[in-house]
Amino acid sequence: MTKAKKIQAIRGMHDSLPAETALWQHVEDVVKRVLSRYGYSEIRLPIVEQSQLFKRAIGEMTDVVEKEMYSFDDRNGESLTLRPEGTAGCIRAGIEHGLLYNQQQRLWYIGPMFRHERPQKGRYRQFHQLGAEVFGLFGPDIDAELIMLTARCWRELGIADHVELELNSIGSLQERARYRDALVAFLEIHKNKLDEDCQRRMYFNPLRVLDSKNPNIQQLLHDAPVLSEYLDEKSKQHFAGLCAFLDQTNIKYKVNPRLVRGLDYYNHTVFEWITKNLGAQGTICAGGRYDELVEQLGGQATPGIGFSMGLERLILLVQAINPNFTAAKMIDVYLIASGEGTQSAAMQLAEDLRNKIPSLKLMTHHGGGKIARQFSRAEQCGARFALVLGSNELSTRKVTLKNLAIGEQETVQQADIAVRLAKLLT
Ligand code: ATP
Ligand code: MG
Repeated sequence: MTKAKKIQAIRGMHDSLPAETALWQHVEDVVKRVLSRYGYSEIRLPIVEQSQLFKRAIGEMTDVVEKEMYSFDDRNGESLTLRPEGTAGCIRAGIEHGLLYNQQQRLWYIGPMFRHERPQKGRYRQFHQLGAEVFGLFGPDIDAELIMLTARCWRELGIADHVELELNSIGSLQERARYRDALVAFLEIHKNKLDEDCQRRMYFNPLRVLDSKNPNIQQLLHDAPVLSEYLDEKSKQHFAGLCAFLDQTNIKYKVNPRLVRGLDYYNHTVFEWITKNLGAQGTICAGGRYDELVEQLGGQATPGIGFSMGLERLILLVQAINPNFTAAKMIDVYLIASGEGTQSAAMQLAEDLRNKIPSLKLMTHHGGGKIARQFSRAEQCGARFALVLGSNELSTRKVTLKNLAIGEQETVQQADIAVRLAKLLT
């Protein structure tokens, strides 16, 4: 038979191999624990939604909807999309299940997101976000709480000194409309200096020009009108309120008057946590308020605010700061069986030990082979102890316990091994 051609993963979509998943689990556990300490509950949402949901929520003229969505027709002809972000689906579910009207909700979600972008370090086509959303609260106090919660995550992950918070207020829809006119007038004067992307965005989505990564454009924008000058008293007060809460809790931030977000639904507060350690893809967490979005998606008017962390980038950063991260040893004990009838006895002993010591991580050898080979398996697994059940041990109801780190071994009655192991492992 000719050798079959290998099938590879899709470009920009990655496997997380066992060597990496320990770090993923650690990072996820830390963030989930912080969320539960603030009283947030998990919501689990489908990965596929109607395309219309994202078009309406994110905005037809955004990069995400214009060119990054994985959309396809279902067998009944309905257009579906692999979710590019989590907020839209969360609101869809909230409206559908009556979670939002006249209530407060503090929710979080985790999972894969899909955007057809150019893959590079920190930018993938399938990536993972952990996000939180709060509904039903207008004040800047909840904006501050969400930021405090993320700051706590960075402290607990040991990366607090390597991230900076940038904040801005992008005001209300009406304020942005006024600003938009002024910005377009400015851009028109400098039209010949704009790159192709910005020329295209100039009329459809001029605020996105502010977000351009092109240094020449950033230079030009120094003289552009500033959004904060178009905000009314109410917006200014909200922003000042948020800054005051952050000052009180000693959270440092930089007001970046050019910070806008790539999705259309944001208003008032927007923020990003940025690191210099990862090159161009430096935003590890981004969020903001979206007080109109619930209504826009057919629900009763309900204010909302949320953030989303890019887990790949967060993990790259944790790795960069702490390259020697090693998760807790995968297993405590490797159980070796050699000789007639020992496999079944070993498996019974293993079950008995797991019953008696619930925290025990024990791997039983399968597949037979020489004792020496079984020992090298135990070493490869990083086990602290090997337990050996050979023909001798089987007939004398004993078991040999070897400490693999120091090489010492002892023989213990099978009846006593659970107590002995429990003592050694604490
Ligand atoms: P970027 O500035 O990198 O394009 P964005 O503004 O499109 O990000 P959001 O939609 O706000 O990002 O998503 C929140 C977070 O999700 C980002 O800050 C980032 O950490 C992560 N993220 C977004 N797109 C990707 C991607 N293609 N690959 C990996 N992570 C991503
Ligand atoms: Mg993007």
